[in-house]
Parts: sequence; structure tokens; C-alpha cells
Amino acid sequence: MAPRPLVAGNWKMNGSRAALKELAAMAEGYDAALRAKVDLMICPPAPLVFLASAAALGSRIAIGGQTCHPESSGAFTGEVSAAMLADAGASAVIVGHSERRQYNRETDADVAARAKAAIAEGLTAIVCVGETQAEREAGKALAVVARQLGRSVPEGATPQTVIVAYEPVWAIGTGLTPTTDDVAEVHALIRKRLVSRHGRQAAGIRLLYGGSVKPANAKDLMGVADVDGALVGGASLKAADFLAIAAAFR
Ligand code: PEP
Repeated sequence: MAPRPLVAGNWKMNGSRAALKELAAMAEGYDAALRAKVDLMICPPAPLVFLASAAALGSRIAIGGQTCHPESSGAFTGEVSAAMLADAGASAVIVGHSERRQYNRETDADVAARAKAAIAEGLTAIVCVGETQAEREAGKALAVVARQLGRSVPEGATPQTVIVAYEPVWAIGTGLTPTTDDVAEVHALIRKRLVSRHGRQAAGIRLLYGGSVKPANAKDLMGVADVDGALVGGASLKAADFLAIAAAFR
């Protein structure tokens, strides 16, 4: 059976208490017909996780964090642990987003440690992988994704503990997207690698595509084999856009 689709929004370092009105509008538009077809999640910045969880109560929109520290507590000024996110109402956390890999120098091992910490706290780890433009142009996209996947996803991944997001770095926030054939090729590789390493249960792990998903291209991208949903950045900030993307699954 195909995994149940998920459209997750990454608000990055955007949003305020006032922006929670968008979450309320998403809840309003997440009608029974849409709920029957697709799961929704919003990952706001850490200071909003508790308020967003409260605002989303009863709506079936899940709330996630954007990263977590590998330790559950301690002298790590400025960091947020998976335990804290869970305590604030999150059910998932993004780990290894390319912006974290690039600006915070997170390695595959760092990402795996964060994913393990998330899973230990009962969160689903949304593990991001994806090649840069230079890597794609050099014909290394598949090798890079396979390496990141192998080293960033912890042992024993299941559909409950792990979601994988394929996000080509060059497609994030640029308006550029890979062809549907390219997305299909990468997602097929991810599925194959997950099943060969984690066993048959890994066929149920959700594989999201991320990178400039918009209402106008959602139907095409979401229709690709082994694409079980989207990780959406910019277009998740406005309820109308986010719901229009989710509507690809109606
Ligand atoms: C992201 O940051 O995960 C992302 C996919 O961004 P955008 O949709 O804005 O390209």
C-alpha cells in the first residue's frame, strides 16, 4: 500500500505570533475531504512551536521543529533539544536541511545524531538530502543523495520514525525545479536504498520532494512515482498557497 501523503511546511526563520492566523486559516481549509487524502504539518521557528501546537489542536495539522540538538539538555546555549520540541507539542522535526548543512556546517554524522535524538524522544525525523547544482552538473546527484541517505538516516528506520525529503539545493527558494523524470530517478533510488538497508517496512517510509513547490507545479511533482508529498518552504507561509499545494491530493 502506498504511504499516506504528507505536505509539510518549513517556515524557516519566518513568522510571528501574528502569522499564526495563517495556521488558523489552514485549519479552516483542511476540510474532511482533504483530511481523507493527505496529512498536513507546519514547522514554525522554535519560539512558535508551543503556540502553533496550541493553535493547531483539534485541526489534525501536525507541528514540527526545524532542527534539534543531539543532546536532550545541557550547556548548549541557544540550542533546542528534541525533548523540548516534543514537550512543546511537536510530533516531528526536520534534520539536515541544506541550510543547516551549509550555514551550520552540519555533516551527515551530525544529521544522523540529530535524527537519533529525535526518534528517541518519539518524534519523526524528517531527514533532508539533496545535491548542489555543481554536483548535479557533474553527474553526481545520485551518488551524493545515496551517500547522504546512507549516513544521515539511522539504523532501523520505519515509517513511524523517519520521513525522507529529497531537496535539490539548487531548487530551494529559486523557482527552479528538476524535471519529473529527474525527481522520479532520485526517489526510486531512495526507495531502493531504504528497502535494501532497512527491510520491507521501509517501503512505507514517506518520501517528500522539496524545492520551489508551488500551487502551479504541485500536481505534476506530486504525481511522480515514489513522491509521497512535499516539503514546502516559501509557499507554506500563506494558507491559500499551502492549501492549494495540498489540493494536488484531492
Ligand atoms: C525548503 O526550504 O525546504 C524549501 C523547499 O524551500 P522552497 O519551497 O521555498 O524552495
